[in-house]
Amino acid sequence: MAPYTEHDFPTSPLIVFYEMTRACNLLCVHCRADAQRQRHPDELTTQQAKELFQQLNDFPRAPLLVLTGGDPFKRPDLFQLIAWARSLNLDVALSPSATPLVTDQAIANLKRAGLHRISMSLDGADAPTHDGFRRVPGSFQRTLHIIAQCHAHGLPMQVNTTITRHNFQQVDAMAELLAGLDILLWSVFFLIPTGRALAQPRIDPADYEVVFEKLWQQTTRQTYGIKTTEAPHYRRYLSIKSGAAPRLTGRQVGTNDGKGVMFVSHVGEIFPSGFLPIHCGRFPRDSVVDVYQNHPLFRDLRNPDALRGKCGVCEFRPICGGSRSRAYAVSGDPLAAEPDCVYLPQGWTEGAARAEHHQPAV
Ligand code: SF4
Repeated sequence: MAPYTEHDFPTSPLIVFYEMTRACNLLCVHCRADAQRQRHPDELTTQQAKELFQQLNDFPRAPLLVLTGGDPFKRPDLFQLIAWARSLNLDVALSPSATPLVTDQAIANLKRAGLHRISMSLDGADAPTHDGFRRVPGSFQRTLHIIAQCHAHGLPMQVNTTITRHNFQQVDAMAELLAGLDILLWSVFFLIPTGRALAQPRIDPADYEVVFEKLWQQTTRQTYGIKTTEAPHYRRYLSIKSGAAPRLTGRQVGTNDGKGVMFVSHVGEIFPSGFLPIHCGRFPRDSVVDVYQNHPLFRDLRNPDALRGKCGVCEFRPICGGSRSRAYAVSGDPLAAEPDCVYLPQGWTEGAARAEHHQPAV
């Protein structure tokens, strides 16, 4: 099948995140899900989860299914559901917590069930930084051990890192650490103030540009892929670096919340992403296909001309558009300007000047 492109945005998501549970044994300081110790009584049942996976095959292009949480290992039907998704020919990735539940036998079972990729979180280049995030001493070493075990079982590995004020100085050190871990992809996530992350300081807008430069430099050096999550303005940065008109570079697709991305919560609520908590429907009452294709918010999020503030006039909006989750978290408006972008679009500067001098647009 031809690669997924922007032409697929209106009809099919590239990735569907299914939050299997909010239960988790960790209490990470920046947890989106505000994870709890116990499973919620209204979680989708095994049968409902199977029906959800079946419905994903009704999209014109079947998405990648990412099983997340909480900690998916808190669900006893985890292996059964992965095998079910594979029987439907869905590609499946898993994002577990680094706890003692991830045993060597459990990793072997994931491989046997047909899992395509596993992602682990590393939020610092050393144990004090990472363990401080996870609030569990030994979490850094445990994560490195799990990564080694996954390699031993032939499971491709992705590493996720959340950037905050506490660790953004460690980007280069993190990149070098990952170079020795034989990973496929480094996903660098920029904090959204939601869930427990509300109390966490995000970096200053100018520091995004510093991190973007470091990531770009590392991209030229490392063999693994590097992508950002909830920082689409990295695409603006790369486009300017390339010296061309606003365009995507490399293998970028240009996804954003609700634009190639959909999130189904542990109780079936449908959101444009896990960081944009605007309820757009509820599975199984609502079809995930119908919500993705037709819900007004999903449609607005895919329309660059629906954006407001400086993002609404920015020449980079078709490939960037800013983080819709961060705009919502900071302003309450999912279509407002990205609050953490330093770029001043030409149209915005001129428009602001006209408004200041009360001159009509010509
Ligand atoms: S102003 Fe908005 S659309 Fe333009 S680069 Fe910044 S975040 Fe992206």
